[in-house]
Amino acid sequence: MRAKLIVGNWKMNGSRAANEALLKGIVAGIGDAQASCAVCVPTPFLQQCEDVLTGTPLAWGAQDVSMHEFGAYTGEVCAKMLTEFGCRYVIVGHSERRAYHREDSALVAKKAVAVLGEGMTPIVCVGETLEQREAGETAQVVGAQLDAVLEALDAASVAKIVVAYEPVWAIGTGRNATPAMAQEVHAQLRAQLKARSGEAADIVPILYGGSMKPENAKDLLAQPDIDGGLIGGAALKAEDFLAIIRAA
Ligand code: PGA
Repeated sequence: MRAKLIVGNWKMNGSRAANEALLKGIVAGIGDAQASCAVCVPTPFLQQCEDVLTGTPLAWGAQDVSMHEFGAYTGEVCAKMLTEFGCRYVIVGHSERRAYHREDSALVAKKAVAVLGEGMTPIVCVGETLEQREAGETAQVVGAQLDAVLEALDAASVAKIVVAYEPVWAIGTGRNATPAMAQEVHAQLRAQLKARSGEAADIVPILYGGSMKPENAKDLLAQPDIDGGLIGGAALKAEDFLAIIRAA
């Protein structure tokens, strides 16, 4: 059985003072939670995560990374730098990066390779827009997004990734996919992993993201192929994030 994984995606939120309270609040409430948990924070706060979270059950990571290794890339942060702050996870291919920074699946694949190369875990995000869903293109869109990453990896590396299905229309809208809708896509992604990498498919966690919150987490997480959550808004309040962790 795959253990559940709950990851907070803080996006561009936080301040040193607010983070301190949030991180300590989460750690104080984790207790003997069954799920693994982590927060992916803005880069300037990684040092604070290392200071506050080392030795606790809450892991941390980044929200993006450069595909390059050092050099003349102003504004970018490479995977090796992230390892210096104790990052375990790096989100790659979030739909906000795809939409606002024109990241395509080929670039996302290179970022996943860079993350794996430094011994961290890429959380590879895929998801369709509302127009694509309404046009019946969901399976094809998320299939192509995942395929681009799988093509860049051997089976042993595939076993080390995390996949996150995040329908774009559900992100930050309060309108989550129903458990059945999400499960249908997760099952497809699992089959795709199996076809490409065999047994790795049984190990790779597939998270759901998009307005997951305390009220809907239990039903979503009860689906056979939903192995956890990538949580935006509800990760910014310790009590909400903890409620989701407890539901897992
Ligand atoms: P949300 O964001 O939970 O606020 O919908 C999820 C995400 O974008 O990862």
